Amino acid sequence: MNKPSDVKIYEYDAVIVGSGLAGLAAAKELTEAGKKTAVITKLHPLRSHSGAAQGGINAALGDEDSTELHEFDTVKGSDYLADQDCVELMCSKAPETIRWAERMGCVFSRDEEGDIAIRPFGGQSKPRACYAKDRTGLALLQAIYEQAFRAGVEIFDEWYAADLIYKDGKVSGVAAYDIRNSEPAIFNAKVTMFATGGHGRAYRFNSNAHANTGDSLSIVARHGLPLEDMEFVQFHPSGLGGSGVLISEAARGEGGRLFNSEGERFMSKYAPNAMELASRDVVSRAIMEEVRQGKGVGKDGQSVNIDLTHLDPEIILTRLPELRELAIAFQGQDMLKEPIHISATAHYSMGGIPTNINCQVRKSPTELVEGFYAAGECSCVSVHGANRLGANSVLEALLFGRHAGENMVKTLDEGIELRKANVSDADTMLAEMDKLKSSNGSESVPKLREELQIGMTADAGVFRTKESLERQIKLIDKLLKRFKNIRIDDKSKTFNTDLQEAIELGHMLEFSKFIVVGALNREESRGGHYREDFPTRDDEKFLKHTYAYMDKDFNISLEWGDVVLGKFEPKERTY
Ligand SMILES: Cc1cc2nc3c(=O)[nH]c(=O)nc-3n(C[C@H](O)[C@H](O)[C@H](O)COP(=O)(O)OP(=O)(O)OC[C@H]3O[C@@H](n4cnc5c(N)ncnc54)[C@H](O)[C@@H]3O)c2cc1C
Repeated sequence: MNKPSDVKIYEYDAVIVGSGLAGLAAAKELTEAGKKTAVITKLHPLRSHSGAAQGGINAALGDEDSTELHEFDTVKGSDYLADQDCVELMCSKAPETIRWAERMGCVFSRDEEGDIAIRPFGGQSKPRACYAKDRTGLALLQAIYEQAFRAGVEIFDEWYAADLIYKDGKVSGVAAYDIRNSEPAIFNAKVTMFATGGHGRAYRFNSNAHANTGDSLSIVARHGLPLEDMEFVQFHPSGLGGSGVLISEAARGEGGRLFNSEGERFMSKYAPNAMELASRDVVSRAIMEEVRQGKGVGKDGQSVNIDLTHLDPEIILTRLPELRELAIAFQGQDMLKEPIHISATAHYSMGGIPTNINCQVRKSPTELVEGFYAAGECSCVSVHGANRLGANSVLEALLFGRHAGENMVKTLDEGIELRKANVSDADTMLAEMDKLKSSNGSESVPKLREELQIGMTADAGVFRTKESLERQIKLIDKLLKRFKNIRIDDKSKTFNTDLQEAIELGHMLEFSKFIVVGALNREESRGGHYREDFPTRDDEKFLKHTYAYMDKDFNISLEWGDVVLGKFEPKERTY
């Protein structure tokens, strides 16, 4: 058991939790500006989920493209829920961000003229996804990691951030422990940033890394701070049937066609113009609808076919080599020779920790928390609204990560004070660790997690109804009670993954409730949120952001926040 006297206190100008693209981009800015900066990460930086991004990163680089068209596609794709000032910032700075990444050493694929190659992606009027084969995220992450390292960022890898130090409207760091030996520490800082990535692991069928357990969401919510638009989860149309492992949208971008068991190219019924390149929410629902009508393929009839056999094999071998390998490894299907089975998979979280355009975290729709920032997938700035366009997320993480870094530098230069931490600031974390480690009940963590995931996929997935959502809330409430009776067999201090998984399950249960309560209260269909009992979008009542708050008994209350509109008036979406 750790005692408060075991707690070390480190002091920094800035502490960042998360070493994906968002966290490292911010850390690099801060360190280069001479600010003492620590990055805490439960994984080695290069294992962050950003490295799994395959298909591309958007920027209007094409001759016929423009940043305004990029903005329009993003706002339309978001089903008009995105904040248009933030979208304008992202799209206008995208070309410069690509050049910045290139200067840092990211090797993009080139076209025949030697320019950065671009390919089409869903929901886009023009091809604009820049890419490095189908390993775009890894190429970017390696480049930024090297540069952050060179700048001298201090990285605490295999450290788990478990609590936020938040008092009187101000954040002054985090409490964390070293996963190697369970040693606790406080990272006391003038400015703190969360960049902890997505939370797709709440679903049974998902494309996310094991680490994507949304820890920071409930850490924030436990302090009474809100989460925004959590009901909007993106289901990607092409997860490998059975596993959910991602087959990037690049497969459809390069010309992949979807067929049901009757050999029908069914997208002609759902999006006659865009076909396979309609936005992800539209294609995912189309796939699930075909499956429901009994036109699925595969052993369990839960998938459809994506066919790339009509393409020149050279395209697959040079632009989609990883995807081919994945389909062979997981399904024994070679896309050069046969169609492969895919199904909609939980992929991305549009909602998260609410921030203003400068990445500063909000305490309510109109108030800010002092000294606290968030960027990347864990945040909701909101550029994706109700549905994110493919290749806009890596862009968001890099661009807003860097932007957050610049804004933190500004805040530090303006003279924000360090509020000195005390060892007692680690009390909540130590109590949580001790309580979980001494749990000798009868419930198993993997079993509870599996029940949560199965329920989320079935009842808060692609299709939702009042009944299904109420059923899932009841399930989560029961699981929260059963969670109090878990058993942890590993009592050691060394790499105690049992303990870590239990902490993570606690987070998953809590933020999942935000997803479901938000979905129940949003009685309309918009973007990734589809209510069968309210199948149309209702701008009059719901052109609003959801702000949700949790009390000590896990009850969730909601309020609404305004959407920042701009030059694009909400219209019906057609593809
Ligand atoms: C398979 C896949 C393919 C994708 N392809 C694309 C694509 O082609 N184009 C695109 O635009 N987007 C894509 N995305 C989405 C995109 O990759 C992510 O949204 C983005 O990279 C997230 O970056 P991030 O920096 O916010 O978080 P991440 O890269 O996920 O990093 C999160 C970090 O937080 C740390 N962390 C989390 N919790 C804790 C804790 N409690 N304590 C300490 N550290 C913690 C982790 O260690 C990690 O370093 C894809 C996503 C997936 C899953």
